[in-house]
Amino acid sequence: MPRQIWLNGKLVPEQQATVSVFDHGLLYGDGVFEGIRTYNGRIFKLRSHLLRLYASARAIRLEIPYTLDQLDQAVRQTVQANSANNGYIRLCVTRGVGTLGLNPFLCKQAGTFIIADHIALYPREIYENGLEVITASTQRTAPAALSARIKSMNYLNNILAKIEAIDAGVLEAVMLNHQGFVAEGTGDNIFIVRGGSARPQLATPPLHASVLEGITRNLVIDLAGQADIGCEQTDLTKYDLYAADEMFLTGTAAEVVPVTKIDKRDVGTGKPGPITQQLMAAFKKLLANHAPED
Ligand code: PMP
Repeated sequence: MPRQIWLNGKLVPEQQATVSVFDHGLLYGDGVFEGIRTYNGRIFKLRSHLLRLYASARAIRLEIPYTLDQLDQAVRQTVQANSANNGYIRLCVTRGVGTLGLNPFLCKQAGTFIIADHIALYPREIYENGLEVITASTQRTAPAALSARIKSMNYLNNILAKIEAIDAGVLEAVMLNHQGFVAEGTGDNIFIVRGGSARPQLATPPLHASVLEGITRNLVIDLAGQADIGCEQTDLTKYDLYAADEMFLTGTAAEVVPVTKIDKRDVGTGKPGPITQQLMAAFKKLLANHAPED
């Protein structure tokens, strides 16, 4: 059965779901998107994703030709048409068809499409044994150049860091910002655990450190709070990563992934730590129980 893609207002079979070569999403990476998960038929944190999509669009002066409620319905319709009860949704809004020049205002209308598919970023063993990462030399874009808060369709900055990771024989890279502080992974946020076993504390880079305000990041901070584990949002350096007791990444696709090696050094004991495991379990439990839609 071909996938049904929601394209500019209607569902079409994937073979007919095509975008013009004059779309500025393709010509310039001019557009915004969201990656969303469904668990047991529920669309996880759909409102939060839609709000972030509209905020990203506003930041680049892109007018989404649908209301938030219309896109909410469109996502639901796409999930249903593809029976994507445990899947991954990609919702994209491109600048639309324009001229070969940069001017975005010559593009008449934004293009919108929704794909319901599956995603598996890392093999199962990674969740059991941990992920090895490097710190990339490619800096995360500075806020004065392009805010990392915008979830734009231009991921070249992240892809260059991903290439460094792959070249180094690992699957993910941690990016530092223009000031040398830790920012995030190429497609996930980063947390460390420090303070020793007597008083473990989470720390994660603040939003001003060139990071996307991850929906999973916010959820993990909440889950930690419910377990009486504090989370400091503070500038971190490579030193903090190397000295950490534990480390993990968070993202919609990756969920909560333990990191056990960075730049060939063991993180803590070199095995997924107890706080990481506790938060992974809390996250799993939340999904199994009701996977909040917000
Ligand atoms: N940072 C970047 C650069 C990302 O692309 C993503 C995931 N799309 C995240 C962080 C994690 O965000 P979320 O938890 O909302 O998926």
